[in-house]
Amino acid sequence: TGPVLEIRDLRVDYGFGDDPTHVLRGVDLTLHRGEVLGLAGESGCGKSTLAYAATRLLPPPGLITGGEVWLTDREGNRNDILGLTDAQLRAARWRDVAIVFQGAMSSLNPVFRIGRQLTDGIRAHRPGLSARDLEARAAELLEMVGISADRLRAYPHQLSGGMRQRVMIAMALALEPQVLLMDEPTTALDVVMQRQILEQIMELRDRLGFSVVLITHDVSLLVEVADRIAIMYAGEIVEEATAADVYRRPRHPYAHGLLGSFPPLHGPRRELAGIPGSPPDLQRLAAGCPFAPRCPHAMDVCQQVRPVLGPPRTGEARRVACHLHGADLPGDVAFPAELA
Ligand code: SF4
Ligand code: MG
Repeated sequence: TGPVLEIRDLRVDYGFGDDPTHVLRGVDLTLHRGEVLGLAGESGCGKSTLAYAATRLLPPPGLITGGEVWLTDREGNRNDILGLTDAQLRAARWRDVAIVFQGAMSSLNPVFRIGRQLTDGIRAHRPGLSARDLEARAAELLEMVGISADRLRAYPHQLSGGMRQRVMIAMALALEPQVLLMDEPTTALDVVMQRQILEQIMELRDRLGFSVVLITHDVSLLVEVADRIAIMYAGEIVEEATAADVYRRPRHPYAHGLLGSFPPLHGPRRELAGIPGSPPDLQRLAAGCPFAPRCPHAMDVCQQVRPVLGPPRTGEARRVACHLHGADLPGDVAFPAELA
């Protein structure tokens, strides 16, 4: 259960020239083998950028300006994704790391049958397969995601949104990748369908043994399916802990607010608090903590010094980028009870 994907101090700018926007500002994240890592945050916090950058699919004007991404392949070799040649990268993508993009289900071509789109995808990577083998594999993939193989002859418009999204997941799993990155895979679907699809992905994870990075703005979904959760704000990770710890005792004031913004899936309904204010303009980030303008606990030090996501404190599995949880809490500040 070693690491399969390691992201180190990853930095991304948008825009060239003298005044680029720092969209990822040094992200550190480790995905362990077999694990489901949830990545949550409001839209614009850099979640999708992280997925695109880690797989080198970042479209211009996005530019990786620093950091490292390491992928451990099936044979146990650690490969530097940012250092791969384009040919090596094409081979690694889908075979080692596959992505289900945000809005993927609308990227099916409306004029081709599902079977053709599935087999085209497989053929691109397994040119040796016969037409029969291709079709058999396409049928197998479709059934794997709970769709009857006779739907191979259907056109995309003949499938529901949930089915189309399952087809995209089947395509991503076609080469049995070790890492599946999913960016808002169920956001366009209703709650019941969301749950069904996520449950199915988790079943497949147990059966096939891949690891998952699940990106969503809806942290309540992650609480159910993720092993660990990382919360992003303004291009950095502000809290990372087990799903249970994040859910029961979020420690970063932003994580606390985010958890209060979604109704729990189970248990008593709670008052939705939301987080007053809006995410910062990344072009004009002041020194200090990026959450300070919205933080109910901001202190003087927060205006001056940017808190960093250090290593976990002894005896803890959690990392928090907030001065309240640092060693340098001013003596006259009472620790907020809700974050204890
Ligand atoms: Fe709030 Fe300060 Fe913590 Fe930032 S560092 S989240 S402003 S208490
Ligand atoms: Mg996004």
